[in-house]
Amino acid sequence: MNVTHRITVAAVALAVALTAPAPALAADAHTIAELTSLATSSTVQAERATEELEEIDLRLEEAHEELAEVEDTLPSTAREEFRAAAAALAAPFSHAAAERAEEIVDALDRRDELAAEILELEDRREEAEQEAEESRESVAEVQARLEAAHVEAQRIEAERVRAENAARVRLMVDPGHGGKDPGAVSGTIYEKDISLHISAKVVSAAARQGWNVGLTRDADRFVPLDARPASAAQWGATALVSIHANSYGPTPKGNMTIHRGGAGQVIGQEIMDEMALLTAYEDIGNRHDVRGLAVLRGATVPAVIVEVLSLSAQPELEALVDSGVQTQYAEAIVKGVADFHGVTYVPPAAAEQVAVQPRVTSDAAQAAASDEATAATTPKSPMASGDDWFTRFLRTLVG
Ligand SMILES: [Zn+2]
Repeated sequence: MNVTHRITVAAVALAVALTAPAPALAADAHTIAELTSLATSSTVQAERATEELEEIDLRLEEAHEELAEVEDTLPSTAREEFRAAAAALAAPFSHAAAERAEEIVDALDRRDELAAEILELEDRREEAEQEAEESRESVAEVQARLEAAHVEAQRIEAERVRAENAARVRLMVDPGHGGKDPGAVSGTIYEKDISLHISAKVVSAAARQGWNVGLTRDADRFVPLDARPASAAQWGATALVSIHANSYGPTPKGNMTIHRGGAGQVIGQEIMDEMALLTAYEDIGNRHDVRGLAVLRGATVPAVIVEVLSLSAQPELEALVDSGVQTQYAEAIVKGVADFHGVTYVPPAAAEQVAVQPRVTSDAAQAAASDEATAATTPKSPMASGDDWFTRFLRTLVG
């Protein structure tokens, strides 16, 4: 029986397999198949090690029993030994005494053999027990890795399905107004700039989703109203979202979405639901277009106009020029569009938030510093000096 050797070889093979560096994504079918086969073979090895241990235990028990039997046949007292010795001396004259003496000598030899075998068995038992324990640990380790690979495979598959669905979304973002058309104006702050800034953030958030995303304008440029829904249709948009900021007096009234029924009404409601979480006041709501707005009238794809807050209400104006608030609105719009398409929304990663914020902050700080230097008394648009960065940013997004 070569128990020890077999167990050791198996344990070494398993140890080699386990210490091999795990691939970065240990979840492909090949890895899972390998781990499954490793789990099977290591389970077999653990079972074999346990069986060998049982065999050793059985042999030990037999040896102990035989030893007890042999010891029973031996004289148990010095007096008996003396008698046996005397009998041995008398052996030439007594056949029975000679036989007894021979029996005792044989029994003593057997006792020594058994004692030696028991010692050896006990050593081997200790080794076999350790190896069985190690192979059980290996099985547990392989099974844990297999389980982790299955979990990772499920996550990768879920992400594949999410990305596949996301790739079907084609969002056309329409920054309201532009160029000679400033939209609503409050001092030096123009709706056309605010809509472009929020749109850029929508593009960024949409790109993170893995959507296809287009822009009707990527700079301070006039684009005719009719051209906007037309480019959305030509591009095969699954949704057209036109981004504006409102203006209707000094009282804050929250947000509004405008639609012409059908799918546009559904997108409008989804976006409204998300934006409603961002204002303290009651929103105007998801309204039907009663004026026949050109962007909606001309749209052949699901279309909605989003009116984010109002430039004419001071608290809302302050919110509108805040980059952080603009980001919140962009994310709310993208969440609404995701809900409309029935795809999973991917929030910004913590790292992404940290990476983007300081840059915006430093631009704003620079703008503030240069405002102070030119001793402006009227409030200036915090976006004014960020345009170069903004244009570069847009170009990287729309390629
Ligand atoms: Zn507008």
